[in-house]
Amino acid sequence: MGKHAIGIDLGTTNSCVGVVANGVPIVVPNQWGDNLHASVVHFPGGDRVIVGNEAKRHVILDPDRTVWSVKRILGRKSFSHEVKKAQTFCAYQIVESENHAIRLMIDGQLFSPEEISAFILREMRNLASAYVQEDIIDAVVTVPAYFNDNQRQATLDSGRIAGLNVLRMINEPTAAALAYGYGRELRQRVAIYDLGGGTFDLSVMEIDGDIFEVLGTAGDSYLGGDDFDMRMTEYLVDRYLRDTRVDLRQNRQSLQKLREACEEAKKLLSVHPEVLVSIPDIFVDRGRSMSLEYMVSQKEFNSLVTDLVQRTFKVCDEALGAARLHPRDLDGVILVGGPTRLPLVREAVQYYFGQPPNVSLNPDEVVALGAAIHANSLIQSGAARGGQIGSAHLLDVTPLSLQIATVGGYTEMLIERNTPIPIERSRIFTTVRDGQERVNIRVYQGESNREEENVLLGYFDFEGFRIGYRGQARIEVTFSIDASGLVHVTARDLETGLRQRMTVALSSALSEDEVVRLSQRGAGMELANG
Ligand code: AMP
Repeated sequence: MGKHAIGIDLGTTNSCVGVVANGVPIVVPNQWGDNLHASVVHFPGGDRVIVGNEAKRHVILDPDRTVWSVKRILGRKSFSHEVKKAQTFCAYQIVESENHAIRLMIDGQLFSPEEISAFILREMRNLASAYVQEDIIDAVVTVPAYFNDNQRQATLDSGRIAGLNVLRMINEPTAAALAYGYGRELRQRVAIYDLGGGTFDLSVMEIDGDIFEVLGTAGDSYLGGDDFDMRMTEYLVDRYLRDTRVDLRQNRQSLQKLREACEEAKKLLSVHPEVLVSIPDIFVDRGRSMSLEYMVSQKEFNSLVTDLVQRTFKVCDEALGAARLHPRDLDGVILVGGPTRLPLVREAVQYYFGQPPNVSLNPDEVVALGAAIHANSLIQSGAARGGQIGSAHLLDVTPLSLQIATVGGYTEMLIERNTPIPIERSRIFTTVRDGQERVNIRVYQGESNREEENVLLGYFDFEGFRIGYRGQARIEVTFSIDASGLVHVTARDLETGLRQRMTVALSSALSEDEVVRLSQRGAGMELANG
C-alpha cells in the first residue's frame, strides 16, 4: 500500500476527489482550481478521451461523442425504466448486449457504462496523484445508500477498470457523517439529507464519539436535481410552443441547449429571486435563426418542483420509521448535494425537521472528504476489514431486503432491509422432485413478495449432489452482505461437504477477463484534458 489513499465521490453530475495530506483532509482541485469535475466523458476521436469540465462543453457541440449522467444507467438492465429514459434523450446509441446488459455506441466503438465511469475515476486518481506526487491506487469510492448490489458491483468494476484498488465502497450519507463528526467527540443523532443529480437518500445516524451507526436509511433512485432541470425545460418548451408554434422537442440539439440553460438558471435561482433564460440561436426555422428569452422567478420555479421536494419527505418518513424516531428527535440535519442549496429545499427541510439544517459543510465536497478520511484510516490501520477505521467504527445497514425465489413467482425474505452489515444468513434447500439433478437459486433485492417486482441480482444452479428422492438432498446456502454492501453466496452440500462459492452477479455483469481487457484498453487511451 502507498502512503496515500483517496476518497472519490463518483456523482451523477459532478465528481470530487479528496485525500488526507499531512494529516489534513482536503479536496483536490484541478489545474484551474476547480474542486468539482463534471462527470462527463468526451471522445474527440482517435485514442483520446477528455474527462470533466472540459468535456462538458462538448455535450452540446458534439453530443454523439459525449457521455453524461452515466451513473443513472450504471448497473441497470436494458429493460429498466432508467435505460429507456436515457435512450430518449441521449444522442449516442444505447444498445443491448448479452443478458440485457447495455453498451454505448460511440464512433462505431462499444463502451460499457463501467468503462465510462472508469474514465472519470481514472481522472480523479490522476488529479490526486499529481497533487501528492505519488501514484495512488488505493481508494474508497462512495455510492448512494440506496444502490442495489448490481449498481455496487458495477461501481466496483469501474474502479478496477480504472486500475484502482477499491479498499471499500461506502454510502454517500455515511461518508458525509464522517466528515461532519470525525474526531469531534459528538453524541448526536443526525439526519443526512442527500439530494444529488439523480438520486435522493435519507440516512438517520447516531454518532457516539468514534462510533458512526446508521439507524435507518431509505431512498429514491429516480429523484434528483436533473428532474428539476427537466421540469423547467418542459415548462419552457410548452411556453415556447404556445408563443412561437415551434416545438423544440423535435430537435435534440435545441432541447439539449435548453436543458443546460435551465440547469444554470436553477443554480442561479438558489441565490437570485428571478433569472433570465436566454438562448440566442435555439432553433433555425427555414433559414431564420430564432432565439428564446424568458424570465423565470423563484416562485414560478418552486411551483414546478414542489411535488418533487415533497416526495423526499415520504422517503424521510420511511427512514425515520425504520430508525423508530421522529423528526424532532434529531440533533442535526446535514445537507449533501447541489440541489440542497435551493431555498425551497432548505425551507422545506427546516419545516419537516423543525430545525434549520446545518450549513457549515460544503454540500458538494462533504462526501469526498468523508471518503478520504475513511480511505486514510483504512491504510493507516493497514486493515481494510471489519468496519474499523483507526479508532472509529462504521456501522452501516443494507438499504434493501435480500430475497430468494420460491415457487409460483413468489419470493421469501432472507435479510430484511436496514439490517446492520456485514451480515451472514444460511438456509437449507432441497430437491422438490425425485431424481432432480440440480437446484436453481435466484437471488433478488427489493421489498415485494413477487419475483418480478424485485431486482434480480443473480441465479445459479447447484449440482453435483447425490441424486435421490425429493427432499433427500440437503444444500446449505449462505448469503452474506459485506461491509461494502456487496452480496455473496456460498452453497454447500451437507452430505458431501462439496462447496461452491460465487459472488452473486447477474450474468450481464462484466466477467473477470473483460475487466482486465477494458482496464488495458482504458490505460492505452490518452487522457487529454486541457
Ligand atoms: P451531484 O450528483 O451531487 O453531482 O449533484 C449535482 C446536482 O446539483 C445537479 O443537478 C446540479 O444542477 C445541482 N446543483 C449544483 N449546484 C446547485 C445550486 N447552486 N443550486 C441548485 N442546484 C445545484
